Amino acid sequence: MEIEIKNLSKSFKNFKALDDVSLTVGNGEIFGILGPNGAGKSTLAKIILGIYDSPKGCVFVDGIDVCSPDYVKIKEQTGFLLDNISLIKAFSAWNNIEFFDRIYFKNDTMENRQKRISKVLNVFGLDPSSKKPIFNFSRGMKQRVALARALINDPKLLILDEPNRGLDREGKVVLNKLLVALAEKGTTIVITSHELEDLSLLVPKAVYINKGKIVGEPWVKGESSMNLLEFYDSHIDVKDVKI
Ligand code: ADP
Repeated sequence: MEIEIKNLSKSFKNFKALDDVSLTVGNGEIFGILGPNGAGKSTLAKIILGIYDSPKGCVFVDGIDVCSPDYVKIKEQTGFLLDNISLIKAFSAWNNIEFFDRIYFKNDTMENRQKRISKVLNVFGLDPSSKKPIFNFSRGMKQRVALARALINDPKLLILDEPNRGLDREGKVVLNKLLVALAEKGTTIVITSHELEDLSLLVPKAVYINKGKIVGEPWVKGESSMNLLEFYDSHIDVKDVKI
């Protein structure tokens, strides 16, 4: 799927969280939205997901306006992980994913449901037979459940807000391999992050956003003389540190 954003702004009361953002993401691309806390990354991710109404400007996915009723066709093919991961604490990993599976695949057989749910849990090393509620899970384990859930509808568009948060090294390696495989299959992937070390091998294209604005030109692997870390650091205004 192709994302086209033109002159997008979003305000919360008088506060401008996004200010005249324009970017395009091509089909099957892994695209990084980088920047510090409070930059507007999550807001941008949520607008692409069609969560906020009335943003100013244009957001189209595969030519469909994010604000149009037709956007439901895109939503059906979108997977997402948001910053608060929004899992149901009293449910097991299985039931958390089943909850979404029943939304995406309303009248399917239990056998198909079981196949789909086991498959995504297995990708992240989670036990499909576990009945344990997730409230005692570590942050990293919850992150794995939320990532597994993001895959349940075999998405053509994947929006991941800080996907590495809390993951151990094993989880990060699995995630990176999975995202590369999905992009090769044609899934368009947008990742927001400030954890560059984990993304630097994965992301071929990225923008840096701060105070709601894209700063400078996008970074494109192979075209820039800088690596991703150097690109990010080139935007940081570090004052002399004295102790
Ligand atoms: P990031 O993901 O880059 O950390 P966010 O997109 O979450 O940044 O937030 C950008 C700014 O918008 C922050 O200053 C945040 O406080 C503000 N903001 C985000 N969502 C809301 C909201 N629902 N209501 C009011 N302010 C918000």
